[in-house]
Amino acid sequence: MFDLHQLRLEVTATDSEYRGYFEAARQRQLVVQKCTNCELLRAAIGSGCPFCGSPEWQWEPVQGTGFIYSYQIVAHAVLPAFREWVPYPLVLVELDEQRDVPWPTHDPTGTVSLRIVAMLSSRTDPSQPADEESVAIGKRVEVCFLDINDLQALPAFRLSEGPPEHSPWRAPDQ
Ligand SMILES: [Zn+2]
Repeated sequence: MFDLHQLRLEVTATDSEYRGYFEAARQRQLVVQKCTNCELLRAAIGSGCPFCGSPEWQWEPVQGTGFIYSYQIVAHAVLPAFREWVPYPLVLVELDEQRDVPWPTHDPTGTVSLRIVAMLSSRTDPSQPADEESVAIGKRVEVCFLDINDLQALPAFRLSEGPPEHSPWRAPDQ
């Protein structure tokens, strides 16, 4: 069995970005950063806005729903804490907020969609991975949380009920 206590999540007191993210997760809330200058959201945590360069931002709660944009099966665990999980699916989830909004300044053909990498968890137990056969691009997911300690949790996703975003696709077996 996977023991969450093997996973040590250390965030220094000065790292306000990651600390707030994991603490919100412990309160069962997925958050992203919102630039207070251009008002665009961003899922990749950082101190400066990738769209306008402003260092001013605030946390913005999001629903935590979206679909699997891409995925990968982890066959070799780099961290010992994940050894019992392999093979397990990692998913790149595109959230429902700010979808298909064009990237106005840098890349007119790109979008500022919110995409988050996380484990795909079992529907019944967020601390266990989903079967690798169940993952497919296009399936709908919702956020769930793995408690690390009394203050912090890791966001993960699990398959949700309801129709897929588009016809599901998975890579053919090798
Ligand atoms: Zn901005």
